[in-house]
Amino acid sequence: MRKYMSIKKSVLIILCFYAFVAINIFADSTYEAEEQKNVLFISSYTENFMTVPDQIQGIKFIFEPYPINLDIEYMDSKRIDTKEHKQLFYQMLKNKLNNLTPYDAVIVGDDNALQFAMDYQQSLFKDLPIVFFCINDFDRARVAAKSNHITGLVEAVSLKETIEIAQKFNPLAKKVVAIIDNTLTGKGDKEQFYNTKDHFKTLTFEDLNVSNYTFKEFEMILQEIEEDTILLYLSMFQDKTEKAISIDEAVEILKSNTKVPVYRASIGGVGTGLLGGKMISYFEQGKSAAQIIIDVFDGVPIESIEVVLESPNKYIFDYDIIKKYNINEQLIPDDAVLINRKPTFFQQYKTMLIIMFLIITFFVLVIFFIIRDNIRRRAIERALQESHEELTTLYEELTATEEELRSQYNEIQRYTEKLENLQQKYEIAIKGTNSAVWEMNLENKKLYFSKEVSNILNRSIQENEDVNLVLEQFLLPEDRALLVKNYTEVINGTKQEIYTQVRIKDQEGNLKWLLVSGKHLTNLGGRLKFINGIVLDITKFKEQEAYIEHLAFHDSLTHLPNRIYFMNKLKEELEQAKKGAVLLLDLDNFKEINDILGHTYGDMVLQEVAKRLNNCVDQKMFISRFGGDEFLILIYDEGDSKITDHYINKIRHALKTALAIKEEEIHIHYSMGITRYPHDSNEANQLIMNADTAMYKVKNLGKNNHMFFDHKMTENLREKAYISAILRKALREEGFILMYQPQVCVETGEVVGFEALLRLKDHSIGPNLFIPIAEEAGLIIEIGRWVTKEAIRQIACWRERGFGLKPVAINFSTKQLRDDKYLDFLEKMLNDNKVDPKYLEIEITESILLERKEDTTSFLNELKLKGVKIALDDFGTGYSSLSYLTFMPVDKIKLDKSLSDRFLEMENIKVMDSIISLVHSLKLQVTAEGIEEVEQYRRLKIGGCDYIQGYLFSKPLKVEEIEKVYNYNYVETIK
Ligand code: C2E
Ligand code: CA
Ligand code: CA
Repeated sequence: MRKYMSIKKSVLIILCFYAFVAINIFADSTYEAEEQKNVLFISSYTENFMTVPDQIQGIKFIFEPYPINLDIEYMDSKRIDTKEHKQLFYQMLKNKLNNLTPYDAVIVGDDNALQFAMDYQQSLFKDLPIVFFCINDFDRARVAAKSNHITGLVEAVSLKETIEIAQKFNPLAKKVVAIIDNTLTGKGDKEQFYNTKDHFKTLTFEDLNVSNYTFKEFEMILQEIEEDTILLYLSMFQDKTEKAISIDEAVEILKSNTKVPVYRASIGGVGTGLLGGKMISYFEQGKSAAQIIIDVFDGVPIESIEVVLESPNKYIFDYDIIKKYNINEQLIPDDAVLINRKPTFFQQYKTMLIIMFLIITFFVLVIFFIIRDNIRRRAIERALQESHEELTTLYEELTATEEELRSQYNEIQRYTEKLENLQQKYEIAIKGTNSAVWEMNLENKKLYFSKEVSNILNRSIQENEDVNLVLEQFLLPEDRALLVKNYTEVINGTKQEIYTQVRIKDQEGNLKWLLVSGKHLTNLGGRLKFINGIVLDITKFKEQEAYIEHLAFHDSLTHLPNRIYFMNKLKEELEQAKKGAVLLLDLDNFKEINDILGHTYGDMVLQEVAKRLNNCVDQKMFISRFGGDEFLILIYDEGDSKITDHYINKIRHALKTALAIKEEEIHIHYSMGITRYPHDSNEANQLIMNADTAMYKVKNLGKNNHMFFDHKMTENLREKAYISAILRKALREEGFILMYQPQVCVETGEVVGFEALLRLKDHSIGPNLFIPIAEEAGLIIEIGRWVTKEAIRQIACWRERGFGLKPVAINFSTKQLRDDKYLDFLEKMLNDNKVDPKYLEIEITESILLERKEDTTSFLNELKLKGVKIALDDFGTGYSSLSYLTFMPVDKIKLDKSLSDRFLEMENIKVMDSIISLVHSLKLQVTAEGIEEVEQYRRLKIGGCDYIQGYLFSKPLKVEEIEKVYNYNYVETIK
């Protein structure tokens, strides 16, 4: 009885607690909850605009407990922002207001709606409280708030806080670079950005204007941004060619071309690749506005509520990116929102676990009481028995009264009923949990099981079975040891109870998991006599557990181990100082497969590739999907490179034959980078980077191959980055000059023209080194245009200054073919400077033929049509097929230095002669380059060569010096 009392008491306490909490929640506001209110929300945009749903949710969140009816009207001013549209909206609203229940308050979201409310306050919302939010124009908010009926909050970008947190995340950062463009928003962003500069004494501020580049060039620039930079994405809508992209596309470019985290202080991109920052929370804005309305309904006079100038912004970060850049999580503010953070196992299954725990506790309690009642019952029975015997003797001896006997009988009856009752409860409990009860007699080591045990074990067991026999028969040896250990601890008192999970094999050989739990019961003398407990079939839970674990460590598309699993394996290897190789395999052109054949098809390709790779796996190989179209492979080769070679072949073989997917045959190529541990590094992340570097090297060299990592690769990369930075600077700051080398007529000795050769003003790095880098970095287009412009300007300048006109040759890189508008540019330059095209010569090399063939031929033909001369440069170094000359529209052949060096020797002179006469037979002229010796000149003269360019006459010279030899006769100097 006392027990029930105490339960009642606790229930009462809990109820009181709930009541207290409830009262507290609703006691916050005195606003009469019964009074129905009507509120109108006017949004400047529509529901489809990115920020609007969050705003509405925030408002609704606050209004939820009150009987407030919220109506929403959308101005749609992002799409149409005209006077007529505003007028129509006004008329529509007026009509509604005239016919519907009047509103008690108005909320306006964003600047246009506020302006609207101000313009029509008198005619539409006279004396109504108006609350605004998300207002960018502070002046507008200030003017609006002059009205006694209007107040609200503004929206301010937290650039400063975003940079501050970025500086915390990266204390070594030296500069902040903001991405901006030439759109109106971009200019505004730029100004705001530089306004925060004074807060950061240790950081330099720079901006990167997308509108100065094409998006392709911009990607290159992004790739070179180093770790000492805080990269802040503000606006990136338009490039140099005025091509416009969406925020999503911008995010895609940013995330695939940067090795530093990208910060963002406004909506868009966080969660899909950007790190985030402190940004405007449209939800919080909505909440704050709605709260002001509630305060007004509560009786606070609206004119007493000040405009809130602190925008309720929130830190929002992408947890995946936090992890990717190893950012210390303790630096993240407590109230930050972390997108993509997966809940821990406990958080995810919290309710299930708690319910399981409660159920088990409940049944353990029930069983405990049943067992206790059982024991009491036995004692009572025994007492009854005794008293019954006593009664019988009494009866015999004293012939006791019948009534007395009956009452005794009734007593027994009552106990029997109670017993049956208990028995039923006990059966329900046992059946419901698929469990059975056991009792072990510590004196004779016999085990007793309730009958349900046969369901669990799938076979029957004797009433009183020997403990050792049971253990031996059913349990796996290692689990047996575990259980025995636990049992011993209970016996010698170091543990309170048995609680172990063990496996058994049932008769069909299936493995089952059981939870064995038990407590000991002491007899009167305090000695242990029995252990009682239950066995519970937990196979289902275990399967669930294993499944969850599988999910955490495998990729859902290919079912391969995922990146986390791979990293664990690799770290394990490194900790144990083992040797092996890490392979990073990246499918070539997978993006095209996805773009052309669709993502579903792409997914199927990945699955098939995964399957084939998986078929190669054995004890020495571990494979995982690293993400996207990348697979990471671990080869445990113990330092024997032949083993790794073997697997590289195996993989090649596995992916050699075409994949047949959806009746399409598709050939897969891949690029693979390989690095060895601990040879190349003993740090997991470094190894992945190495493999990645090697893989990129393969991609750069034309894909479809594999390559081992070499420390030189990173040095090369560094040198290239250094030089391309110099080139970029030179383009910005007029750091290039042209030198001119005279071309001399063999017959007359006169200077007949010049070749313009590019130099860096402030560096001794020569074009042989920097031109290929400019080509690779996509800078050649801009450089090529500069050379063209400068050479033409120089021709015009010489003409103006009375030097006779002589042709100037410029070098044209094959990669400049990608400059679609080059011909227009060239034409404009010639026109602007009034230079006849025949004074410009363009030097191309044979490699131009390897580029897009049709484009090339039409490009050359158009040049020719304009009247520009074309020379084929470096003849003798490439394919040097004379047959090219029959269809390439060139005017002149330039024999390479190596050719002259080889064939102007006495014994080979005939070869040179025949090359020259062959070229002449095609009606083309010949220039010999790199001529240093008088002897060479003499032989060329005999062979009929037209022009000579070489150190014999002059090295390339600066403009002032070349002017001195402009009309020189070199042959006279030799004679
Ligand atoms: P190229 O077009 O074959 O230019 C001739 C190169 O040979 C020049 O080297 C020139 O200085 C050098 N040279 C001329 N006479 C002699 C000689 O008697 N002996 C020796 N040993 N060398 C001689 P430079 O100026 O270093 O240019 C190297 C290459 O860089 C050029 O080879 C050309 O392919 C490229 N290049 C130079 N300027 C430009 C440019 O404005 N645009 C492009 N796309 N490439 C350029
Ligand atoms: Ca040349
Ligand atoms: Ca040449």
